Amino acid sequence: LIWMTLYDEGRLLGGGMALIPLDLPGISRGKLIKLLGSHDIPQCEIFLEDVHIPEDYLLIGPDIYEAAMDTFLNLGGLSVAGVFTGLARAAFEEALNYAKQRIQGGKPLVEHQIIQAKLFDMFTKVEAARAFSRAAFSYCLTPADTIPIEYSTAAKVYCTQIAYEVAHEAVQIHGANGLSPEYLVSKLFRDARGGLIGDGCNEVLGLKRIHNVLENYRP
Ligand SMILES: Cc1cc2nc3c(=O)[nH]c(=O)nc-3n(C[C@H](O)[C@H](O)[C@H](O)COP(=O)(O)OP(=O)(O)OC[C@H]3O[C@@H](n4cnc5c(N)ncnc54)[C@H](O)[C@@H]3O)c2cc1C
Repeated sequence: LIWMTLYDEGRLLGGGMALIPLDLPGISRGKLIKLLGSHDIPQCEIFLEDVHIPEDYLLIGPDIYEAAMDTFLNLGGLSVAGVFTGLARAAFEEALNYAKQRIQGGKPLVEHQIIQAKLFDMFTKVEAARAFSRAAFSYCLTPADTIPIEYSTAAKVYCTQIAYEVAHEAVQIHGANGLSPEYLVSKLFRDARGGLIGDGCNEVLGLKRIHNVLENYRP
């Protein structure tokens, strides 16, 4: 799927989206890029040079581009919020189990107050992310004239931030083991970092959606 800017003999028509095969003349792929995390989703650059895209490959034209883009971003935001809520939950549960088993200072980590405080904070964050992502699904998938997309964006931003914070503490509770690939929390932490960037950098998403909040929010 490719999003494009469409012109007719130099005149700007607007945006569009097409489904194109990667064996069209002029399309090439860069080598696999191994990111810090998200290794389950292989990434590479795709180069287009003087590629002719037949008109019937166009799925969405300028007439419905804005609405289609909002639908796409809305579903993307909701999905990312759900996935990263799951990541936060996994990191919390890994840390909880580890803290029950690891003995330090003569007793399990979970009996030390500082670890209890961390676990409670993680638990609170996971529950908040769970509640917010569910609420956003409900608001943004209810049929309406317009999508309240500020909620799916806010859920994406919030849940990815929470996932990063919870995964960070989960690594800390694991001590040096948390840095080892043998422990799941190291993968969760690396994946969580990408959530603040993938599907739009969180800061920029906020700047974009504040306009929807200013326009639509009713006390
Ligand atoms: C795991 C993963 C999977 C991805 N999958 C896909 C995919 O399938 N398809 C796809 O098309 N893309 C994909 N991306 C790319 C992703 O959408 C972009 O990386 C993301 O939108 C950020 O763009 P950028 O990397 O160009 O950063 P930039 O936009 O260059 O941002 C760099 C920094 O500048 C800041 N910044 C940017 N604009 C402004 C501004 N106007 N004012 C102030 N600060 C600003 C940002 O907050 C950030 O800190 C993926 C990325 C990741 C991490």
